[in-house]
Amino acid sequence: MNERIVAAVNSQIHAEFSSAYTYLAMSAKMEDMSLPGFANWLRIQWQEEIVHAMKLYDFLLSRDATVSLKGLDTPKTTFETPLQAFEAVLKHEQKVTHLIHELYALAVEERDYPLQSLLQWFIDEQVEEEENARAAIDSLRLVGESGSGLFMLDREMGARPAGGSEEGG
Ligand code: MG
Repeated sequence: MNERIVAAVNSQIHAEFSSAYTYLAMSAKMEDMSLPGFANWLRIQWQEEIVHAMKLYDFLLSRDATVSLKGLDTPKTTFETPLQAFEAVLKHEQKVTHLIHELYALAVEERDYPLQSLLQWFIDEQVEEEENARAAIDSLRLVGESGSGLFMLDREMGARPAGGSEEGG
């Protein structure tokens, strides 16, 4: 495989593991805030990011390229409210979408057709990731300061199934 491509895929693997680590830290903070449903949602998101990283990891291995894992930074959890948390999730996913698009552009430039094919899945997945984050933001805005509304929304977020095919696994 082309060296630029291998380096770029490795850096996307790093971005996916970083996302996972961020969502896990956010999940822990939601537990501290007594919001187990939001914590569950973010814990499932953590698992999904691991799946994303491993798809790219396995892709490199299947093409006889070298996987190079790098260190992860301490995740930032600066939010004070669930709304701020999901605004951060959306912003983060928009950043990841940009990275995926850049990687796709490189795959086109280098005529790496297998990578383009794999990235189609990621491109669709990112549309879903942003949509999920926006849906949570919309619900949280609707609920506003209502404690009972937040309680019910937390229960709804707690019902997100692990590894659901709808969520893109
Ligand atoms: Mg991801």
